[in-house]
Order: sequence, then structure tokens, then C-alpha cells
Amino acid sequence: MNKAETRNSNMPIVYLSLGSNEGDRNKNIGQAVELLNQHPEIQVKRKSSLHETLPVGYLDQPCFLNSAVEIETGLPPLELLDILKLIEKQVGRKEEGIRWGPRVIDLDIILYNSLVMETPRLTIPHPRALERAFVLLPLAELVPKMLYPGLGKTIEELALSS
Ligand code: ATP
Ligand code: CA
Ligand code: CA
Repeated sequence: MNKAETRNSNMPIVYLSLGSNEGDRNKNIGQAVELLNQHPEIQVKRKSSLHETLPVGYLDQPCFLNSAVEIETGLPPLELLDILKLIEKQVGRKEEGIRWGPRVIDLDIILYNSLVMETPRLTIPHPRALERAFVLLPLAELVPKMLYPGLGKTIEELALSS
């Protein structure tokens, strides 16, 4: 069976945040989206526009390009995280670096259906999403009216106050 045949409407919908501030940022994000879509258990459904954003956390570095994508996947959360890390490597991300420092690509899981989970390796929703306009604004392009899990607020409301 090919990817289209194995898919059904009960598959989890996941929102990922993508960021790059090293090398050809546009190309890095494009390549990451392509690699995501090439995975047999991932289909990229929609993409936000690209947002140019100032660095946060560690300020002495180039501006980022950020975007969000909606994917449909049969992969459970931790398996998806492993795939994201593989794709980061394929796009050229190095293992070590300054925390929140420059990187060729960063792929984070922001939402996985309405799942709330906290493990040492993976927290969903992403633990710092709510304080980050560079995450919420691209996400609000895709799902403005969606309620953020555990909060009585929409992504749009949260984005506007971020
Ligand atoms: P931040 O997590 O603040 O955005 P970062 O993306 O720069 O920082 P990384 O070095 O890319 O941090 O990731 C550190 C670890 O965060 C990963 O190895 C992963 O185990 C963990 N992690 C926890 N929750 C998530 C999530 N929702 N999405 C991606 N990684 C996560
Ligand atoms: Ca990140
Ligand atoms: Ca990350």
C-alpha cells in the first residue's frame, strides 16, 4: 500500500515549528519540509508563510526564518521526535551548540492532536510555545480558531497577546 492508501481521517494531526538562522535559511526550511513529506508515515498538509524574526534567549546571532506546518502522521509522538532529529541532521544541524544559539534547522513538535504529555524527552504542547510569537504567529495562520490544549483560549488570541 502506498502512503495515500494507508492514510485515513483518524490519523493524528500535528503542528510543527520550523526555524533556521544559519546558511540558506529558506532552502533549509524547504528541504526539511520536503524530507518530512518524503517519510512514508508523514504527509505535510499545510504550511504557514515564512516569518523573519529576531533571536530570543541568545541575542548575538542572525535573525531566524520561522514557519509552521500541519502534518498528518501515524507515528506516535516519541517516534516522530526521533524522525525530526534525523531530518535535522540530514539538513545539516550539528549536535552541539549554544543553547538557543544559531542553527541550520530546528524542528519542534508544538501540538499533537489535543494530547498533553510530559516525559524527560518530550513535552507536548511544547513547553515554551506560549511565550513565543515566532511559534504562535505562524501557527495562527493555520489554525486561528483552535483552542490551545488545557487553556480556554484560541491560538489567534494567544498569538495576538504574545
Ligand atoms: P527549545 O526547546 O527551547 O525550543 P531548542 O529547540 O533549541 O530549544 P533542542 O536542542 O533542539 O532545543 O532540543 C532539546 C530537547 O528538547 C530535544 O532533544 C528533545 O528531547 C526535547 N523536547 C522536549 N519537548 C520537545 C518538543 N515538543 N519538540 C521538540 N523537542 C522537544
Ligand atoms: Ca526550538
Ligand atoms: Ca528543538
